[in-house]
Amino acid sequence: MPEGDTVWLAAARMHEALAGRRLTRADLRVPQLATTDLAGQFVTQVLARGKHMLTRLDGGLTLRTHFRMDGKWVIAAVTARPPGPDHQIRTVLANETWCAYGFLLHDIALVPTVEETRLVGHLGPDLLGPDWDADEAVGRLHAQPGRAIGEALQDQRNLAGIGNLYANEVLFLRGRTPWTPVSDAGNLNALVTTAHRLLRANRDRPEQSTTGDLRRGRQHWVYLRAGQPCLRCRTRIRTARLGQPPRDRAAFWCPFCQRGPSP
Ligand SMILES: [Zn+2]
Repeated sequence: MPEGDTVWLAAARMHEALAGRRLTRADLRVPQLATTDLAGQFVTQVLARGKHMLTRLDGGLTLRTHFRMDGKWVIAAVTARPPGPDHQIRTVLANETWCAYGFLLHDIALVPTVEETRLVGHLGPDLLGPDWDADEAVGRLHAQPGRAIGEALQDQRNLAGIGNLYANEVLFLRGRTPWTPVSDAGNLNALVTTAHRLLRANRDRPEQSTTGDLRRGRQHWVYLRAGQPCLRCRTRIRTARLGQPPRDRAAFWCPFCQRGPSP
């Protein structure tokens, strides 16, 4: 599952390639939009809102796409071959220079730009948005004091942009297990501020490091490091499922560095 910083970087690249230019071709390969033709319109802006990408057009419409688990946008020269299998292409947006291919995208929708909030209005404060508001995010987390903090941090209605990687890493840095109730998770303002700092530090590059080290195997404290020694105390990192199926996910923690309940 991509994190907010991945979507942010993808939106920045899309904006660079598409904004201010006229679409020469636009394919939306989902049944309800298959007859919609956006060719001739100008792209005015591409931005990320949490993990949603919004492509705004001068005709007053916004195309919303979501990466979910496996989706991605890939930009290629308009003269080049598509950079992936044709059957995985869900959307194509091209101008005279660039062609953006949306592979395996989800939740493709076209709405009037003034009604974008219908699609993203439920999201909490966006960690990488211009209107990031730590106090508002903390208030939303506090509203469910008994919930496991590892789940609450990934609920996009509380704050938008954190996926499994940052949830696990932030909780390592703050010394709490993912199963710790929100009410016992310590200083929530420091927690969300740490998340904000990590996403900002990574948003301009494809690599995601929470340790400050970009070397392979040293980029994360606990995420995907089950069985390996903690980079801080050498204790073996553990993993277990967090949450109820089918929405459960892998959690990782160091039983020495992180206090709180665990399975
Ligand atoms: Zn440790």
